Amino acid sequence: MPERNRKIDRCALCGERTVLEVSHIIPKFVPDWMKKNGGTPFLTSLANPQKREQDGDKTTLLCRKCEQKFCVWETKFANEIFYPFHKHEKVICSYDGWLHLFVVSLAWRFGVYVKEKDERVLSALEVWRKCLLDEAIEDDIYDHHIFFILKNENDPSLPDGYDMYNFTHYDEAIALDSNEKTHQGWLYMFIHIPGFIFCSCIDPIIQEDWFGTLILPKGKLDSNAPRSIPDHVKVQYISRIERYGGIRYSPKRMEQITKSFRKNEQQVKQSLGYKMGLRDLSRAALKKGKKG
Ligand SMILES: [Zn+2]
Repeated sequence: MPERNRKIDRCALCGERTVLEVSHIIPKFVPDWMKKNGGTPFLTSLANPQKREQDGDKTTLLCRKCEQKFCVWETKFANEIFYPFHKHEKVICSYDGWLHLFVVSLAWRFGVYVKEKDERVLSALEVWRKCLLDEAIEDDIYDHHIFFILKNENDPSLPDGYDMYNFTHYDEAIALDSNEKTHQGWLYMFIHIPGFIFCSCIDPIIQEDWFGTLILPKGKLDSNAPRSIPDHVKVQYISRIERYGGIRYSPKRMEQITKSFRKNEQQVKQSLGYKMGLRDLSRAALKKGKKG
């Protein structure tokens, strides 16, 4: 960034007043991977689907030292878990504190970015800020979970847009359970990147009915090991996929998509985005056939 555009302010993590870096809210390796595998150099944001984006959300947030700290955990996650999982559709790896710090860095960045006012969230953000700053995972009182999304080829009960949402988009929310049948009022951070869901529990700080997903100080991850997410998170997750499946593009955006497709047809047809789109279409056709 040119020097004159740089912003001097307090680093949100260490508090030092200095020149701030422009930080990605979702780590840069994610939008970079999405562009490489999506078939076009553009992204569609779930928050604003009618606009095409060239990069993920960014903001001036951290000093260089803190930005580099985050970069270490991101690189570790990208190389040891994210890329291998997408390349081989499975991954087995050992981890230690860096996985906890990586997941907390996602939740903290998003909470700070959206300027959340809820006191329960603010308390969590302050605990997470100190945990990240001192790299002291033992001071974090909140539970964090990681969930691998596996490809379910032809299950017709899955909602429209399932594959596109899960494998070609990212999504973030401070989620509140409003379902009377589950745990009304439960609060957590919901972060989705292609192939993964991360949940950071906020209130209560430990939430039941997760299985095989808890991030420990150190352990082993196997993407194919049995795991399940609780009903209140499932309800949120499915409703977010359905919201995505219900997106109808404006004529202008549709024209952009068609043009980009024609221009790069061969490349698009080889892409993950195209394959996932076809899978969603064939599932929708199967559903329609069953109904009719
Ligand atoms: Zn800093």
